[in-house]
This record gives sequence, C-alpha cells and structure tokens, in this order.
Amino acid sequence: MWAAPGRVNVIGEHTDYNQGFAAPMAIDRYTAVAAAPRSDGLLRLLSGAGAFRGPVAEVPLHGLSPGRTRGWVSYPAGVAWALLEGGVLDRGSFGGADLAFASAVPVGAGLSSSAAIECATGLALAALAGADLPPAMLARLAQRAENAYVGVPSGPLDQLTAAFGVAGAVLFIDTRSGAVTPYPFDLPAAGLTLLVLDTKVHHDLGASGYPDRRAACERAARTLGVPALRDLTVADLCRAERELDEQTARRVRHVVTEDERVLKFVSLLAAGDLSGLRLRAAGELLTASHLSLRDDYEVSSPELDAVVAAALRGGAYGARMTGGGFGGSAIALTATDQADEVAQAVLAALPGADIFPAVPAGSAYRVC
Ligand code: ADP
Ligand code: MG
Repeated sequence: MWAAPGRVNVIGEHTDYNQGFAAPMAIDRYTAVAAAPRSDGLLRLLSGAGAFRGPVAEVPLHGLSPGRTRGWVSYPAGVAWALLEGGVLDRGSFGGADLAFASAVPVGAGLSSSAAIECATGLALAALAGADLPPAMLARLAQRAENAYVGVPSGPLDQLTAAFGVAGAVLFIDTRSGAVTPYPFDLPAAGLTLLVLDTKVHHDLGASGYPDRRAACERAARTLGVPALRDLTVADLCRAERELDEQTARRVRHVVTEDERVLKFVSLLAAGDLSGLRLRAAGELLTASHLSLRDDYEVSSPELDAVVAAALRGGAYGARMTGGGFGGSAIALTATDQADEVAQAVLAALPGADIFPAVPAGSAYRVC
C-alpha cells in the first residue's frame, strides 16, 4: 500500500506555469492505493471515492495512449502510460496491476486530489516493477500524465508538493529550476491554525478559464520579450501597461506581484517563528494574494470571496483562495484560540462550507 498527500498552496497562485515561485505544503490528508502485480497486461482499477465508486475498470496496457480512457480512470492510466514512456516501467516485462484507491483528499476542491492519485499510483507501479523512482522523477512523470494524457495543462506545483512534502514545513518552490526548499512552518508551536474552507462549489468556467489564463501569460511574455513572466519585476509593470491591453496587463500584474509576495512570505518564515509583526505581515500577504486573484487575475468566485471576507471578519490574520480557483477551497490563517470564531463566521456566510484544519505533512510514501 502506498499513499500520497493532497496539498494547500499557502501562497503563490498561478505562478507555476510562469516559471515563478510558490510556497505550498502537503496536508495530512492522503490518497492510498492497495496494489498487486498481474501478469496478463491489464490494469484493473477501483475507486472508493464518491462519484467514482465501482465497478472495476479494465485497461489493457498494450497500445495505451492518450484518449484511450475516459473519466477518473485516465489519472492512474495516464501515470502508467507516463512510466512506460519514461522507461521506468519496461514494456516487455511489466505485466500490469490491480489498483484499489481510497482517499481522504476532497476531490475537485482545489486540494489536488489529482496529484495525490497520480503520485500514489506512480510509487505503487514503480515498486511493483522493482524500479527506482526518485521524487523529482515521480513529480515530472505525474505532471506529464496530467498534461499529456488527461489533457489538463497544469503547472508542476501540485505534483512537486505531493512528491516532496515535509511534515512541519512549507515548501519554497522555484518552478524554473525545480528546486524545493523546506521552510519550518510549525503551526501548533506558534499557536496557529490553518483552516481549509472548502466551499463545495465548483464553477464550470474553470475548464476554459485556466487554459485561457495560461495562454494570456504566454502571449504577454512573448510581447514583452522575456522567456516567462518570472523574468519581470514590479519595475516592468509600467511597460507592461503600455504594451499590453488592459486585461492582459492586469494578468501580468498578478503574476509579478504574486512572485514578490511568495519571496516576502518565505523571508518572514526564514526570520524565525511567526509571531507579532511577522505574523501580521504574513497574514496581510495572504489576503493581498486573494485580492490580486480576485481583481487582477479574475479566478475567484462569489463563494470564495464570501468565505475569505467572513474569515477576516472572524479574526483570521489572513485568508485567500487556494488552488486554481473558480470555486474550490480557501484557507485562513488564525490563532488557534480564534479558530472556532473564524469557522462560525465562515459558516454564517456559507452554511454549506466544509471547514477543517490542516497541518504540513510528509510526501508520498510506502505505507506497508
Ligand atoms: P483537484 O485536483 O483539485 O481535486 P482536479 O479536477 O484536478 O481537482 O482532479 C479531480 C479528478 O481527479 C477527479 O474528477 C477524478 O477524475 C480524479 N480523482 C482524484 N482522486 C480520485 C479518487 N480517489 N478516485 C477516483 N478519481 C479520483
Ligand atoms: Mg488537480
């Protein structure tokens, strides 16, 4: 049995496909897979998760290629495909597998259940084949499964977090170099609680909104003559406003200021325990990130705005949407003794919300 965690992106949203910075953490909610080898060239897949529960799906490995499968099955099948393409699994000798999934990561809630199922699958299949799969390669092949097989043009953030998560730490990720540096984020020691505010609402707009945003960023980088928006600073924003249309300039402003916020956030963590002025500054960065995503990047939703505003009214230090947006979850950073009040304020604003605390957790691993 293998397992991989979901994640909360603490700060650094929509920066990963711009070769920028992010500071996510793996959370103490995992997707587990029980796996057994086969010798008939089949993948047999079973999920216990809500809408995806049973029956068993059978996928022949021979001729496996993007488009061969539909729905949730494409996530584990895509990982098998990426491992075969990447040479981690040997086409001649790998005989297939039975894979049964159980998950405590809410699905489609912006907490990256997709990277969790991918990374659990990757570890399991490699182990059944006796193949070595270091975390960087696990993350790269899981992302390839999602991009090239499932067809979602996501950046590397989610899979890197599932593959490199460290208990008690936020991961500072430079998505250009792939470097992952843990920074201590010991919430209980600081008397802090990070609440996940799952709105339980997801808007279809996300299906086109995400690739649209990504394309706008790539166009803007070309127009401004840089390899990626990562290569701009706030000093370049005046030029961006002159050379780009108003909406695209706002998209660029979000990405550039968000990269700056990530750097400031990790410098606060590097300076010592989060308390006093540093804690207030960290909270303000989270809230500023939300406003930028709401107004400049336009990927928030009425429900996300409502829970963020309510959490702040309830006394949180900072709050923001997390994940790609258009619904899903927000997070709130609060003193632990204020967490109930924050949760009550959120429930008063959005009675259907699911609220739970999360702590930074470890990476994908072999359970037994
Ligand atoms: P998120 O990653 O934010 O949860 P995504 O839309 O990226 O949302 O991924 C959700 C999809 O991943 C689901 O629609 C389903 O296809 C697949 N998935 C994730 N976890 C599971 C699971 N435990 N069982 C079956 N499918 C899953
Ligand atoms: Mg996902």
